[in-house]
Formats: sequence, structure tokens, C-alpha cells
Amino acid sequence: MRKVVFFDRDGTLIYDKIYLNDPQQIEYLPGVNEGLRLLRDQGFEFVVVTNQSGVPRGLVDVENLNEIHRIIRSDFAAAGIDILGFYYAPFLVESGHPMRKPGPGMLEAGIKDFNIDRQTSWMVGDRMTDVEAGHRAQVKSVFLHGTEDPENSEFAPAEYYSHTFLDLSQYICEQDQKRNS
Ligand SMILES: [Mg+2]
Repeated sequence: MRKVVFFDRDGTLIYDKIYLNDPQQIEYLPGVNEGLRLLRDQGFEFVVVTNQSGVPRGLVDVENLNEIHRIIRSDFAAAGIDILGFYYAPFLVESGHPMRKPGPGMLEAGIKDFNIDRQTSWMVGDRMTDVEAGHRAQVKSVFLHGTEDPENSEFAPAEYYSHTFLDLSQYICEQDQKRNS
């Protein structure tokens, strides 16, 4: 079974440009390549899970979205990092659709499609809805500060709160090493 880190996309791997629809606007957050390489060397693989309510709002074109994901995959591949899969949830907040985080649908799809081990896998995101999606899929969750104040969230706390991508990558590697020792 695979050991995976599920990543939110906007505000976690790339800057949140709010309804990103232009592949030219992709901009990676600092420390992402280094962090992903550390995790890769610890045996983790990667899946991206992104809410895209811009699609039903008519602000994000599905062809552009697929092109954005193709470019992200290719940029990471050039840095020695493979992404197993991308999942997006083209649903409005008020839909309450299980594929849309905090629903676990995208993680569950990944777990099934790629034979992922929940026990050793993680979810990382910059919103408590990401953390909650991890809880519901029974993987450990990490919150990345930057977008949202996690205080007084209606959702159960994350296992770890981090201010940088590199730090959270090191944390996940350390926890994984402890598990194996
Ligand atoms: Mg985000």
C-alpha cells in the first residue's frame, strides 16, 4: 500500500490567486520543492485535492484547470517530484457535496484509486476544512498558516500547525520515522 501526503492546492502548494484560471499565474509557495523532496525521500507519494467552486460559478474553465494541473505536474517532475493524481471538486460551498472539502470524497477516491494506506498518510492544507477532510478520511492532518485563523474553528484540531512548508514536511518525516522505529 502507498504512503501518501494529500495536499490542498491553493495557498498550500501555490499562491491562492482566487479562482485561478490562467496557467501563467501559477506561482509556487516558498520551500515547496525542498519539502516535497524530503517527503519523497521518506517514501511518501503525493496527491493534490482542490475545491474548485470557480467552475460552477463560470470563473474557471475546466480546460484551463486541466492545463494548470498538467503544468504543475510537469514543473514538479522537472524538480524530481512525481504527483500521483489531481482531484478537483467543481461544486459550490452550499452544495454540501461530499467531494468538496470538508467532505472526504476526493481523499476517498484517491485512497481507492491508488491503494493508499490511511494509517501512514497525511492531509495538508491552509484551511480547517482541509484538516476536517483529513479527519473524515481517517488520515492525520496538518494546518499551514497563512490564509485562515484556525482558532475557534468548528472542526477538530489538526495534529500539527505550521508556518512554513519546509517545517511541516520535516514534521511529517519525523513522525513517520518515529512510527518506523
Ligand atoms: Mg487552500
